[in-house]
Amino acid sequence: MEHRSDRPGSAAEFTRARQWIPGGVNSPARAFGAVGGTPVFIASGSGPFITDIDGYQYIDYVGSWGPHILGHRHPQVMQAIADACQHGTSFGAPTVAETELAELVCRIVPGIERVRMVNSGTEATMSAIRLARGFTGRDRIVKFAGCYHGHVDSLLVQAGSGALTLGTPSSPGVPAGCTSDTLVLPFNDVSAIDQAFAEHGASLAAVILEPICGNMGCVLPNDDFLRTLRQRCSENGTVLIFDEVMTGFRVALGGAQERLNITPDLTTLGKIIGGGLPVGAYGGRAEIMDCVSPAGPVYQAGTLSGNPLAMASGLAVLRTLQQESPWDRLEKHAGLLEAGLQDAADQAGIPACINRAGSMLTLFFTSGPVTDLDTATQADTERFARWFHGMLRHGIYLPCSQFEALFVSAAHTEDHIRETVAAAQVVLKELC
Ligand SMILES: *Cc1c(COP(=O)(O)O)cnc(C)c1O
Repeated sequence: MEHRSDRPGSAAEFTRARQWIPGGVNSPARAFGAVGGTPVFIASGSGPFITDIDGYQYIDYVGSWGPHILGHRHPQVMQAIADACQHGTSFGAPTVAETELAELVCRIVPGIERVRMVNSGTEATMSAIRLARGFTGRDRIVKFAGCYHGHVDSLLVQAGSGALTLGTPSSPGVPAGCTSDTLVLPFNDVSAIDQAFAEHGASLAAVILEPICGNMGCVLPNDDFLRTLRQRCSENGTVLIFDEVMTGFRVALGGAQERLNITPDLTTLGKIIGGGLPVGAYGGRAEIMDCVSPAGPVYQAGTLSGNPLAMASGLAVLRTLQQESPWDRLEKHAGLLEAGLQDAADQAGIPACINRAGSMLTLFFTSGPVTDLDTATQADTERFARWFHGMLRHGIYLPCSQFEALFVSAAHTEDHIRETVAAAQVVLKELC
């Protein structure tokens, strides 16, 4: 069933929001900049659905950009937050829930022996970089083109195309000095890693990457790539940081490091760990983590860090994931979606390359393969925009950019997937 194509409530609210909020949104990815049109203002969520302020319901594949692996308003999570509310919202003093979540994270994530809670993924990566520099006494870091680590100055570097380049800032307001120690390499390029370590190995504090990429769309690492990184970092005393803000508790309970069986020195977490409340975390080998203040000299702090409501939410999500172990079901449903979308694109004669890791997936409008930023940006973004709006009219809410991953949640059933594929068949036929 198709919605009307106008959403007068959202249109009016967007106009009002733009008067008081830059661009009308509190985070740019929400503004529909890449696909045009007016963002949908959400009134509520339930399981796999969201409902907008005009009363339209959508099957949601964004899940707040990752946190809602259990779907919206999961009863155990809602109850845990409500219970925590009974005791107060913040104390700025230790609470037991912080230790409980820390212990659970250390038990679940292979590379984490100690963990520090922060309030966002950005804070987690920023702090992990500072820690790696403090621990090694070195300044230079490596990141990969197309990987996103939040809006940290030193990591906001123009994605270099293929060549090994020293970074230049990709946003006004980031002084060149902030990124002059950031080396940008192409994802999945083993020879670029070898070259970077041959030239700079002894001065590299850290290598940071999304071990399975979601932020240039879903891009999988080849085996050699991660193993070479692990080996070169160990040989050179460089701290290997897996940014698992998206993949943590998503592609496996223990994240990409469990799924791929490669253990980093530090891990950054976010999104699912807060279950929809603002939480980030960074953790790793005890020897490194014990450099963080007050155990060690590397300063990092937060007035609201370890917030009781956020800890209760995170604990409820992780405990529910442990109890319900939805991994087979997520794999099956996301696999059905992948197959259905590929089939629909093939039938419509539209070139499509689908990359998937567990329940995260991107349909690229290019014949592929998509293995790095260069191949991702070959995708037809104009076609993506029409696809996105077509699906939206059919009540399917997808990420509003070609260069994002969609998420299947444990609340999606086979029926929801079938409904989505049926809509895709209609929409893709209209696109060719
Ligand atoms: C979302 C994301 C971040 C940033 O997290 P925020 O909570 O938005 O600051 C960092 N790294 C990765 C891999 C992400 O997906």
